[in-house]
Amino acid sequence: MEFQSAAPRTFDRIYVAAGCKVNSGMGVKLGARCDSVGALIVDQKHCTTVPGLYAAGDVVSDLHQLCVAEAHGAVAATSIHRFLPRNFR
Ligand SMILES: Cc1cc2nc3c(=O)[nH]c(=O)nc-3n(C[C@H](O)[C@H](O)[C@H](O)COP(=O)(O)OP(=O)(O)OC[C@H]3O[C@@H](n4cnc5c(N)ncnc54)[C@H](O)[C@@H]3O)c2cc1C
Repeated sequence: MEFQSAAPRTFDRIYVAAGCKVNSGMGVKLGARCDSVGALIVDQKHCTTVPGLYAAGDVVSDLHQLCVAEAHGAVAATSIHRFLPRNFR
């Protein structure tokens, strides 16, 4: 690998640590509270600190994996379903 300001280096392996910015701005604008890294705070039902506002995935957790986001989404969707008023006819 060659750098602009250093001599070429040789590596056996390279692991990219991309970092991440939590995109919680929309939730924050709606009044939801965040933790120290900017992730939206949610309860066990994935409800934020604003009743009726739910969040899932990278915006609530620093364990950034597809399966985690999917599981969060399943919990949030079920919670939303139960939160909504019944409208059976
Ligand atoms: C380079 C890279 C490689 C990865 N590799 C893996 C892997 O191999 N395996 C794995 O399990 N995970 C991997 N991940 C992590 C995985 O992609 C995430 O954990 C997962 O996509 C999170 O899903 P999400 O729905 O929470 O967020 P996202 O998939 O990021 O979806 C959020 C969506 O919301 C949209 N959005 C944000 N703000 C707004 C707004 N204000 N208005 C409207 N839309 C908005 C964004 O554009 C985006 O489409 C990788 C991530 C990266 C960056």
